[in-house]
Amino acid sequence: MDTTLAAPESDPNKARTVPLLRNFVDGAFVEGRVRFDNVSPVDGSLVARVCEADAATVDAAVRAAKRAQCEVWGRMPAAERAKVLHRIADGIEARFDEFVAAEIADTGKSQHQARTIDIPRGAANFRVFADMVKVAGQECFEMDTPDGRGALNYSVARPHGVVGVISPWNLPLLLLTWKVAPALATSNCVVAKPSEETPSTATLLAEVMQDAGVPAGVFNLVHGFGPGSAGEFLTAHPDVDAITFTGASATGSVIMKAAAPTVKPLSFELGGKNAAIVFADADFDAAVAGTVRSVFSNCGQVCLCSERVYVERSIFDRFVAALAERARALTIGRPEDGVDMGPLISREHREKVTGYFEIARAEGATFVTGGGIPAFGDERDAGAFVEPTILTGLPETARTVREEIFGPICHIAPFDSEEEAVALANNTDYGLAAAVWTQDIKRGHRVARQMEVGIVWVNDWFLRDLRTPFGGVGLSGVGREGGRHSLAFYAEPSNICIKL
Ligand code: NAD
Repeated sequence: MDTTLAAPESDPNKARTVPLLRNFVDGAFVEGRVRFDNVSPVDGSLVARVCEADAATVDAAVRAAKRAQCEVWGRMPAAERAKVLHRIADGIEARFDEFVAAEIADTGKSQHQARTIDIPRGAANFRVFADMVKVAGQECFEMDTPDGRGALNYSVARPHGVVGVISPWNLPLLLLTWKVAPALATSNCVVAKPSEETPSTATLLAEVMQDAGVPAGVFNLVHGFGPGSAGEFLTAHPDVDAITFTGASATGSVIMKAAAPTVKPLSFELGGKNAAIVFADADFDAAVAGTVRSVFSNCGQVCLCSERVYVERSIFDRFVAALAERARALTIGRPEDGVDMGPLISREHREKVTGYFEIARAEGATFVTGGGIPAFGDERDAGAFVEPTILTGLPETARTVREEIFGPICHIAPFDSEEEAVALANNTDYGLAAAVWTQDIKRGHRVARQMEVGIVWVNDWFLRDLRTPFGGVGLSGVGREGGRHSLAFYAEPSNICIKL
């Protein structure tokens, strides 16, 4: 990102320069008239100025993608495309530290999270789908016919053409590439719109694409917001043939309506209100450590995080005390200080999370720990920090127990039987993920099968094999991605029947 601007008058450090993040259309970076600020959640300083894509820019991106798909990318053999995808992964790895720094600057996430999860997965997404598409095959059936000659059926995978990718801010590069990689692998061309909160690594990715020799128009990037901006222009565009979206359930619903007139295929990975169930026979220390991770990772801003924890009554008090002790020991602060938890994504999001502290108080919650904003007494007070928070004592009907908060907060409640634990965990409109902690392997299988969610971990959390299906039920999503499920979404089979 070598295009830089002087920081505006409002910036505390006016002498420095900040990057100007541009849209990437038909193989070239383009500016546009309207710009918006990207600010640090750590201290409110300006990270970058971002060029917002207007309707004409989005249209140019879609047209470029359509042309590139027809003329270049759609004609390239899978093995060749796979080589290009590996070069993109090489490019991310070669600029690893830059990606880490950009992701941290936008999100304030911990060094550990960015270095060990977000950026490595950005590269891995390209490698996995590059390798899969080289060996992907279609089914073939011989059939009998009344005249005895028979017929042969085989399928060909048909890409949609232009895929619109819309991604959120919590795992910016990871979630963007989770969609871009399989879409490109299956010979679609892409117009991607990253979150307005996190435009930096997406822009670096466009640079990597350019350096990797990705043909012009194959990958396009448009910056901006949702309604009345790049997001809406993209979802409503008649030449966008499919949309893949990760974000809030309410946004999914809006996108579904926008896509309805042209009946676009949709893949949605949405919100969650995930449960962890801890049985008395669990490895206690492993369950505590795993639950700390599942509640507080990325400051609770992972769709898979546990916001509801159900613990068997005989170990309830001990478990709550152990979890609270671990939560209090988490270090909070600037990512460069090697802390466990950075800030939330923005002060606006902090308003939402602290709003739930108030709601929980009004609903009668006991705050075992947290429930406030840490006082640093220095410039970080301008950041979006909150305390890790553990609640007990709420009824199942409480808003705090039913609504996705997306912060470092959980409610813990006791249960008395396996049936009750299953019923409590399933008592939600969402259905993304669950974690079950038990040393009884039969119980692990039994309970896992009853969880009405897309993914269940037994004795772990966030362990992901990228070949496996990923998605949610209910308000948590539509469809499955991952491995062959991604390939099937991005390139649907057409059947060919040949009379012999
Ligand atoms: P969001 O829905 O506000 O925004 C996501 C993206 O959609 C952004 O790029 C945004 O600009 C765009 N957008 C917003 N309104 C739009 C519209 N009308 N038309 C087109 N695009 C629009 O979500 P967020 O706040 O960025 O992310 C947090 C949410 O994402 C949480 O609910 C979280 O659970 C969910 N999430 C789900 C998964 C999953 O895999 N299921 C993963 C990560 C995050």
